[in-house]
Amino acid sequence: MHTSPAAVPKGPAAVDGARIVAADREPGNWMSYGRTYSEQRFSPLTQIDANDAKRLGLAWSFELDTAHRGQESTPLVVDGVMYVTGAWSKVYALDAQTGALKWRFDPKVPGRVAVNACCDVVNRGVAVWKGRVYVGTLDGRLVAIDAATGKPDWEVMTVPPGGRYTITGAPRIVKGMVLIGNGGGEMGIRGYVTAYDANSGKKRWRFYTVPGDPSKPFESPALARAAKTWTGNWWKYGGGGPVWDSIVYDPKLNLVYIGVGNGSPWSHPRGKKSGDQLYLSSIVALNADSGAYVWHYQETPGDEWDYDACSPLVLADLKIGGKARAVIMQAPKNGFFYVLDRKTGKLLSADAFGATNWAKGVDLKTGRPQVVPAARYGESGKPFVALPGPGGAHSWQPMAYSPVTKLVYIPVMTASFPMIPDEQFKHRAIGWNTGVDFNAGSLPQDPKIQAQILQSLKGYLEAWDPVARKVAWRVELPHPWNGGTLATAGNLVFQGNANGQLVAYRADTGERLWSADTQAGVLAAPMSFAVGGEQYVAVEVGWGGAFGLAAGELALKSHIASNIPRVLAFKLGGTAALAPLPATAAPLLDPPADSASEAVVTKGKLLYHGYCSSCHGDSATSTGVLPDLRYSPILNVKTLWYRTVLDGARINNGMVGFKSALSTADADDIRAYVIHQANQGKNAAAAAKH
Ligand code: CA
Repeated sequence: MHTSPAAVPKGPAAVDGARIVAADREPGNWMSYGRTYSEQRFSPLTQIDANDAKRLGLAWSFELDTAHRGQESTPLVVDGVMYVTGAWSKVYALDAQTGALKWRFDPKVPGRVAVNACCDVVNRGVAVWKGRVYVGTLDGRLVAIDAATGKPDWEVMTVPPGGRYTITGAPRIVKGMVLIGNGGGEMGIRGYVTAYDANSGKKRWRFYTVPGDPSKPFESPALARAAKTWTGNWWKYGGGGPVWDSIVYDPKLNLVYIGVGNGSPWSHPRGKKSGDQLYLSSIVALNADSGAYVWHYQETPGDEWDYDACSPLVLADLKIGGKARAVIMQAPKNGFFYVLDRKTGKLLSADAFGATNWAKGVDLKTGRPQVVPAARYGESGKPFVALPGPGGAHSWQPMAYSPVTKLVYIPVMTASFPMIPDEQFKHRAIGWNTGVDFNAGSLPQDPKIQAQILQSLKGYLEAWDPVARKVAWRVELPHPWNGGTLATAGNLVFQGNANGQLVAYRADTGERLWSADTQAGVLAAPMSFAVGGEQYVAVEVGWGGAFGLAAGELALKSHIASNIPRVLAFKLGGTAALAPLPATAAPLLDPPADSASEAVVTKGKLLYHGYCSSCHGDSATSTGVLPDLRYSPILNVKTLWYRTVLDGARINNGMVGFKSALSTADADDIRAYVIHQANQGKNAAAAAKH
């Protein structure tokens, strides 16, 4: 097995552009987020293949000190050292052969910023360059860490003070510049991506994705043009367009491609007849040296369904209609699989890869989706049950492309969501600003309707043929919210799932070959590396994220209850084992008696879905990531409830105090609603037993 090039630079993380461009010459390493600049997540290693995958066993495990939070990181491995992040933007350097900790860097993210994170306090990984490890922290810093010692060399604040931005995405390094975006589309921000000098941290360029206040000069001609596609006072609400995940680079074309997110707020009051609102929900190509706009393609003009175009972008060379094409591919939240010419941005194809009801298709001549009129709930003011919902048909969980099978492996989700305009919408300093009424859209109490909705939830591992424009094979999964994928030259696809398994499938047929218990649901993508002549497959496990926190009862369906955050590494003949889980769960606390009036419970429900549900779950039902408030000890002691909900007694865990937005009477009403839900839940459990 070939594992290393003739000359490896000295010192840890001695990675540069030449090395990443020639990554296939050292397949034992995984030196950038998607392994290569094309981000195909394809490992050329072949020691583990479809014949012997059944002999895989655990080589080592490393437990992350982040409590029960979602883990979304792709580990990098350079010359035998693994660099991986955990929740709260913590960074770990591990011996890739043994899992032994070399160093740990805790950026000490303040707990108060968790309230600005739409989708858990996650982090998707680091970049490495010339002896340094770079991480974007949840509170908006970019930190350069000495790869040898784990001590910070420099850090810069990349977001404005008081801005409700968070960083969860992995930095990318291009020509000695660290590129980093940010999130906050649900809070009220103006999106951008910035390039910093990798050596000094000095800002080199910044590209804003949406126009700012039109009474001031626009930062670029591209933004002046974009402003013509907006109406209303969008800039007062931020406008949105966060670059929260995908950034890829083509060294030949010298282009950087970014995936741009939804508008802030999702719909009303950005403008009811709102125009296309560039560059929301678009792929934008930028000049790598200057950050100047080169081309864009907008997937969802006038987006009002939270259809971020932030899902991973993958570069490939395909033969389409007998012609060699350099393409960029994306399977974004809106449910259509896009193939574009990556030099010009010309749309080559767009086809539904998942269930969609908001558009009938995409017109290849105009490049525009054929939007169903009823889907425009912002314009009509009438609710629309959107499919996909805001979770998307596919979100950030990385997809892999195999140049051997020529298939893309997508973790697909089917989950609809009622988009109901919030006519009382007022921009808030704390809590979400979507313009959508989450209370009206919460899961109805009627068990029959609940069962229907639960049945409609599905997950798939889908092998998509981007040339034939259709599904090659797919495997149905019991839960919608699963892990990213890895493809290998051993004719394998690896994916972890919500049920707590890492699974190997045959890449050409989807046949299930092997699985291992992970003692936690999996969201992150596996990766592969080689050290000491042995190939490994590693994955970070730990469930949470957007759907894991917010979906309540919907997220509970069939996902594994234990949630131990770890990095797991497997190899052929591995004999390590995880400690067995405790045989029985701790008994649930009895809630106080449900004595409040219906009016109070209703008021509490409204407030709960305005401020609490995005983290503690729809209908006060949590899924093992954050505490289920129905069985929390603080529910039984009013003073503890106030200290937590209003005063922020648990701010270090990410639970801020809401006293700037909620009164003591509000806190009482929310408590009454949670007590009501706890008693409902207890009664339902008792009924199920009889
Ligand atoms: Ca979003």
